[in-house]
Amino acid sequence: MKKSFYQLIKNMQQPHHYFWLNPYKEMAFTRCPKCERKTMVRKKRLAIDVLNKTILLANVTNKYCTGCDLIITGQEKIEKILSQLTYFDNKTVQPDDYFIFGTIGRTNYNKSMKQGLYPSDCIKLVNPFIDKLHFKIRPAGWYKD
Ligand SMILES: [Zn+2]
Repeated sequence: MKKSFYQLIKNMQQPHHYFWLNPYKEMAFTRCPKCERKTMVRKKRLAIDVLNKTILLANVTNKYCTGCDLIITGQEKIEKILSQLTYFDNKTVQPDDYFIFGTIGRTNYNKSMKQGLYPSDCIKLVNPFIDKLHFKIRPAGWYKD
């Protein structure tokens, strides 16, 4: 991670959820990579810093483990959403181009959509992630980094 995640927190809401951006597009994660319990499908409104220029709020369908409070989001799905922004102008979105840092509650999401808030105001309504986790495929199973 290039940017310190905690730099952003000062003016933000309470941290919510753990997060993993899943780079394995062929893996559906019907089971949690951490505890192996079944995951659920949940819509979450993700807050994404794009090129340090703007904050995009995206309503995304994710896998979610209730036991671990872990949101699992497909990297490919996010990059597809971002590629539609004019910033990218048909260029491929690179992992360094964006930074997913939290979720936003429904009420705050609606407020920011209606009022078209500046990124600096929008950021104050975001619940940052408690932490970001990383998992890697290894032949014998799943391990936390
Ligand atoms: Zn779990």
